[in-house]
Amino acid sequence: MAKALDLNTYLDKEIDCSCGHKHYSSVKRIDIDKEAVKRLPKHIEELGYKKPFIVADINTWKAAGEAAAAELAAAGIDYGKVILDYEEVVPNEQVIGEILVAVRPGTDLILGVGSGTLNDLCKLISFRMGLDYIIYATAPSMDGFVSIGSALMLQHVKTTVDCQGPVAVIGDTDVLAQAPMRLIAAGLGDTLGKYTCLMDWKLSHLINDEYYCKEVVDMVRTAIATVMEYRDKVRERDPEAIKAVTEALVLTGIAMSFVGNSRPASGCEHHFSHFWEMRALMHGQTPELHGTQVGVGTIVALKLYHMLAEEKIDFAAAKARVFDKNEWIANIHHCYEIAADGIIAVEEKSKKNDIPARDQCIDYMEKNWDKIVKTIEEELPATEDMEKLLASLDAPVTPAGIGVSDEEVRDCVIYAKEVRPRFTVLQILWDLGLSEEYGDRMVKYFNA
Ligand SMILES: [Zn+2]
Ligand SMILES: [Zn+2]
Repeated sequence: MAKALDLNTYLDKEIDCSCGHKHYSSVKRIDIDKEAVKRLPKHIEELGYKKPFIVADINTWKAAGEAAAAELAAAGIDYGKVILDYEEVVPNEQVIGEILVAVRPGTDLILGVGSGTLNDLCKLISFRMGLDYIIYATAPSMDGFVSIGSALMLQHVKTTVDCQGPVAVIGDTDVLAQAPMRLIAAGLGDTLGKYTCLMDWKLSHLINDEYYCKEVVDMVRTAIATVMEYRDKVRERDPEAIKAVTEALVLTGIAMSFVGNSRPASGCEHHFSHFWEMRALMHGQTPELHGTQVGVGTIVALKLYHMLAEEKIDFAAAKARVFDKNEWIANIHHCYEIAADGIIAVEEKSKKNDIPARDQCIDYMEKNWDKIVKTIEEELPATEDMEKLLASLDAPVTPAGIGVSDEEVRDCVIYAKEVRPRFTVLQILWDLGLSEEYGDRMVKYFNA
């Protein structure tokens, strides 16, 4: 049995950590459990709010909002509400305007009822109004519950705006367990991504001496271990299993605020997701759910890692290569199209592909290759096992299953690393001169 998680031990205080940093999260309370809806009035009152304003859409109102409002009314809490009348809410200027028009004067708390999009809207609205917000979660679909970034569609372009996180995350496991299975599977996919992102972080710590916090890593690992204990019960919508997935997603958000960036939650599997999402949006397609993409990205990342662990590497040949920047720029234009200039600017600043950075990385790896292989083999699950787990929830396990072409599979192995200046296994492959070959091998793997 993994040690049980009590998320509240991490909250509402500054943690003086062995990593030398002080960790703090602005989230004051987390309650993800049976009958949480009954405790909602108590949480609101204890946190000092009197006039909440509920933001829901027609689906989340039916699934959870109505019952939550009834509890508030029974407790004598004077609430207002808006129910967004869309089957699928798009977080654009019109919807933001609709919410702002509806908010009652004197509101002292925004109470979002929903998950991804509703949470993003409430982050923005509350932040712009100088209010706090609580998210009453209806689906364990992604890991952005407590992050400060709000993903919006402004002037038809997907944009992330820094806002604020919630003061509390409340989730009733009976509600969460009734979420559409594709949302639950997406949440599980986002959780599995923590395996590869933690490996990326650890290797960057070893190779580049990047800041690393073992306590934060252990915290995220414990959350994944709990999810793995319940892995066979997610399909049955077992409330304890759903609780484990939801808590893991919330906790990884806490881990991000502890570190001050998304390192503990986002590695190359997230870079794949960003890459595929950008490509889909550029071509007028609707991208898959974030967590669903991350699930597939995790499969790709695991496969790459396991292939690398079996590689006989010619370090001298890797160092002898030249970096043809003009060719690289042409390829970035090919993959990133209208976003290419922004991507090139990231590289201008980080210089991660330059020869000195590369050679330093190669030197370390040459000296420590056995240790790197051992770390990969000991800490990463088998690719096939994670495929089986996602497939058991009818989630896609191949890029084709989420509308990604063979060319995009090859390109993402080589170029998805350019979306962020963050060291991952993709940079290792690049530094060792293996990116193109591994891109081809991934295409073969998924077509076998
Ligand atoms: Zn720490
Ligand atoms: Zn994620």
